Amino acid sequence: LTQTRDRHPQRPAISFQLFSDPKAPARTLTWSELHERVTETANLFRSLGVGPGDVVAYLLPNCVEAPVVLLAGATAGIVNPINPLLEPDHIAAILRETGAKVLVTLKSFPKSEVAQKAAEAVAQAPDVQTVLEVDLRGYLTGIKRLLVPLMRPKVPARHHAKVMDFEAAASAQKHDRLTFDEPAEDRVAAFFHTGGTTGMPKVAQHKQSGMVYNGWLGATLLFTETDVLMCPLPMFHVFAAYPVLMSCLMSGAQLVMPTPAGYRGEGVFDNFWKLIERWQATFLITVPTAIAALMQRPVDADVTSLKTAISGSAPLPIELYNRFKAATGVEIAEGYGLTEATCLVSCNPIDGLKKVGSVGIPLPYTHVRILQRRNGDFHECATDEIGEICVANPGVFEGSTYTEADKNHDLFAESRFLRTGDLGRMDADGYLWITGRAKDLIIRGGHNIDPAEIEDALLSHPKVAAAAAIGQPDSFAGELPCAYVELIAGAEVSLDELMEHARAHIHERAAVPKHVEILPELPKTAVGKIFKPDLRKLAIRRVY
Ligand code: ATP
Repeated sequence: LTQTRDRHPQRPAISFQLFSDPKAPARTLTWSELHERVTETANLFRSLGVGPGDVVAYLLPNCVEAPVVLLAGATAGIVNPINPLLEPDHIAAILRETGAKVLVTLKSFPKSEVAQKAAEAVAQAPDVQTVLEVDLRGYLTGIKRLLVPLMRPKVPARHHAKVMDFEAAASAQKHDRLTFDEPAEDRVAAFFHTGGTTGMPKVAQHKQSGMVYNGWLGATLLFTETDVLMCPLPMFHVFAAYPVLMSCLMSGAQLVMPTPAGYRGEGVFDNFWKLIERWQATFLITVPTAIAALMQRPVDADVTSLKTAISGSAPLPIELYNRFKAATGVEIAEGYGLTEATCLVSCNPIDGLKKVGSVGIPLPYTHVRILQRRNGDFHECATDEIGEICVANPGVFEGSTYTEADKNHDLFAESRFLRTGDLGRMDADGYLWITGRAKDLIIRGGHNIDPAEIEDALLSHPKVAAAAAIGQPDSFAGELPCAYVELIAGAEVSLDELMEHARAHIHERAAVPKHVEILPELPKTAVGKIFKPDLRKLAIRRVY
């Protein structure tokens, strides 16, 4: 950060822009301002007793303060981002588990749901000594419609912690240099929760060196200080916090984050193409469900500034890739990562061969092995043979803080290779292909069915916007495949037609879904992944 500040002090570093209104003024920090804000905030955390091993949590929507607190918290102690969409009891449980001393959240004023949740959670978390409040009110005026999920009219709960205004407390600190100096790259600097896509989120502990390692994304995609990255992802998830933010820190590229992030709420993407035009974005960094939402809207702006889009965090159906390329003329480079590896594992190159459907080549210093376990031992798979993807790189975590030590042991194959739980193969050119997720496989009478095969078939129907296949419990076969779809806005199609389409496009008879159901919207996690546990509950209700 200091070096980038010295190179480009007055260039814009980070901007937050309303999703709803491309013309609304943005909040921007230059590299010099970002450096000052991070330095003073790290000094503030130290003055509040946060040292190595102590936790600063933050519960914030996307706003400039989120990356400031992330970087400052990891410098002073351990930072722990918390998803503001969680319920207060869940937030309290996280605060108690990590023993967070400081919580940074929104200012409590009537109607601030985030502040309200924070207050309720802090009342149940005795270790929290200080609550630092960020005041976004001036900035948020006029976007009530989008803020509905973040607001509810209640009086904040009482709690024991001292409340301070974040900006006033930070600006009382030194902003030109840190008041402490210690080697920090090798100590734990962050606790991040996994996405919770398959169930309860797990907490991964990350070192500073692992966080920074993700900046290789920018080197792989050749980001420079003239690039503008449009990234509609939340700052409490590793994708935005590490590969995206760290790549900007290293290259000097500008990061534009639309706010509030998240995929719940009608119309969030209505003006998105205009945002790309306004910012002359050169990279779009996003996830498949956001691409699916964008593909439901005409490209009503000039997006010729875009060089490439990057997609990660969930499988990108080829059908969606084709639709995006036809609509924008822009290619998508798919990448792969997971919270337990601090995030990034592989990505398709920008200037080399992009293999559509593959998640690209491993980053520098990342080693990927495809292993199969037989009789308790791990065996290396041959080229193109499917096995569990195992990863070693400087970012792979030490274990989950809150899993018992013996379970941590099972997280690794030999030589510290993390078992990702993802299934895949490596081709002869060294490109990685994900073929499924061990936990998502549908097992019909001993027959392994990859849900992606069903999902791709349904998505190839022109009226289907998104599809998800799961196993429905069955007393005879164990599981039967069934699928849920979301249609393109305003489209109508009969279930018979969808079933017919599935039958015609799925080669393996066992994989043809037993039934297909249309939902107004598929359930999604905060990072926009389809949340299959909710669909499994629906399927169970159908059975019993
Ligand atoms: P949880 O582990 O709590 O169920 P989660 O898997 O969503 O949640 P994350 O760390 O956010 O937690 O996501 C990592 C997972 O996302 C990977 O293990 C993999 O299954 C999936 N993933 C990431 N990128 C891709 C991709 N390009 N294609 C397919 N799957 C991907």
